[in-house]
Parts: sequence; structure tokens; C-alpha cells
Amino acid sequence: MMMPQPEKAKKAYIPGLQPQGEGWIKLNTNENPYPTDVDIPINLANLRRYPDPDSHKLKAAIATKYNVSEDNVFCGNGSDEVLALAFQAFFSGTEVSMPSISYGFYPVWADAYGVTPRFILLDNWRINWCDYSGNTIIANPNAPTGLATEITDIPEGGVVIIDEAYIDFANTPSAIDLTHKYDNLLVVQTLSKAYSLAGLRVGFAVGNKKLIQQLKLFKDCFNSYPMDSIAEEVATAAIQKPPKVAEVIKTREWLKGQIPCLDSQANFVFYEVENAKNMYEHLLANKILVRYWDAYPNHLRVSIGTQAEMEAFICCVRQMKQQ
Ligand code: PMP
Repeated sequence: MMMPQPEKAKKAYIPGLQPQGEGWIKLNTNENPYPTDVDIPINLANLRRYPDPDSHKLKAAIATKYNVSEDNVFCGNGSDEVLALAFQAFFSGTEVSMPSISYGFYPVWADAYGVTPRFILLDNWRINWCDYSGNTIIANPNAPTGLATEITDIPEGGVVIIDEAYIDFANTPSAIDLTHKYDNLLVVQTLSKAYSLAGLRVGFAVGNKKLIQQLKLFKDCFNSYPMDSIAEEVATAAIQKPPKVAEVIKTREWLKGQIPCLDSQANFVFYEVENAKNMYEHLLANKILVRYWDAYPNHLRVSIGTQAEMEAFICCVRQMKQQ
């Protein structure tokens, strides 16, 4: 018997592989190679209670860190969830300016929530901020290029989302300060990269109180408690510490001298290689995972691991070149 099919098969985002075995050098999902310093006791008995649906403790810690009020902060189960809610709340049924090359989830959310993407071409791989107007989303630094854009003003006439998943690795400041001046700006960040907590799934948004209230409304229409109480506790401790970026930046700058790549300001580089698919397969055969997309036949996205991991990566790349 035929299974009933959904009327329209939505396109889904395909995350990088998470192999379960040992011995992999994992440079494919922009995780931080250095573990968090947070070491707090977790009392499992507290799990008999539901978590705080509004994550007040975490919001207060984020508000203090970024000099905003708690009303300006929204927390979610990874920044992917925060961004998905923002697409629903602000962009459904509208046209949204976004870079032609950027985070692969943006077109997926657009498709899922009835948004028409207005793809703006990159200018020599860079986002040209003057080209954007109306409802807008960009990643800064952008992915997978890693290039950062200096943002000093925000276009009017729509909601502008700046996805700062990689901002702590960049030499450009966060746009969070601009939220005091522009009430149509929402800045989204994550604890997955600079805070080494990808497995915890915590992201947040900062913006005008009215934008935050809208996000809360959409969250409360699908799940009262997307952030579990352990995640809130660990994230509250982590956000009060400095992000773990110094070693990663040092290794990234070293790596830039070893392979042709763009001037990344993130925790990955966009490596230019003649036959990226062959190189991907060669690295995979040597248990080194990087990210390859058919859309970019001459590039691989390589996350920054420890210095030793990157040296092993370079060694493997050179082996392939000698063949
Ligand atoms: N934005 C960008 C640009 C990303 O690369 C990622 C990571 N895949 C995210 C958001 C989502 O990160 P997370 O859900 O782990 O917070």
C-alpha cells in the first residue's frame, strides 16, 4: 500500500555529519575544539519541575553582559530555533533581502514559512550592505565565506536580522549596541561556537521590546519550554565568562598562510581548491571531515580545530597534491 505523501515536500536543511565512532578529526560543523570551563553541579532532582518558560536567569545574565534590559532579550533552543521563530514572526508572506551566498538554512525557512527570498549578489564574495533594504537577514561574519561586514546603520522599512553566530571571532563589533538606536533591528547570537556549547542548544536574540514580545508570542504558540532547565543553568554560567576564541583565532590566522582562502573572521575558512569534491573524499578517507556542497565545486568549508588537528589537515591536503 502506498504511504500518503505530504502535499508539498519541503526542502530541509542538511546538517554536517556527526560520526559516532572514534578517531575523527571533525572540521565540518564549526564546533569549538576547546571545551567549556563551566563546571557546575547539576541537581537532577530539580528536573521534576518544568523549567522557567521565560528563562529569566539567562535573560538577566545576557542583559547585563550586553548593557540592555531583560525585556530586550529572547532565548531559544539554539539560534536556529530563534531564527526560525523570527522568520515566522516577522517575514511570513513577505519578500526578504538576503545574500545570494549565506547560511543554507535561510532559504529553507523561507520555503517553510511562505517567504520570498530576494537574493542579493555578493560583491567579490563580500556583502555590500548598501544593497539591502526592507525586511533583511544577513549573517555577520557571513557563512560559508567567513567575511565580516562593517555595519554602522540599519535600513528602515522592515525588520533587519543580523545573525552573529561567529561575531566573537571577528574584528568587527557586534551590532547589539545599534539596537538602542534602531527599533527594527534584531541581533541573534549563539553559545554553540565561541562558548563551546553546541551540544547544549542555546541561542538568543537582542532587540526592541516589541520584537521580543512577538518572538515570545510565536514561541508560546508551539512550545512553552523549549529551553530545558539544565541548558538555562549552564548557559547562564557560560555567558558570564569570556568567549573561548583566542586559540581558535591564532590557529585560523596560521591556517590562512597555508592554503588559499578568503580572509575569514569566523571559526572556519572557505578553502579554494580546484576539485573540492575529490579533496573532500580524500580527507574523508583519512577520517578528516570538512564541509563540501555541490553548489561550490571549488571550495571547502574547513572549521578551525586545534593547532595539531589543522597540521594533520594540511599534511593530508599536501599528500593529495603530491599524488
Ligand atoms: N547561524 C549561522 C550562520 C550558523 O552557521 C549556525 C550554525 N549552523 C547557526 C546560525 C545555528 O547555530 P545554533 O543553532 O547551534 O545556535
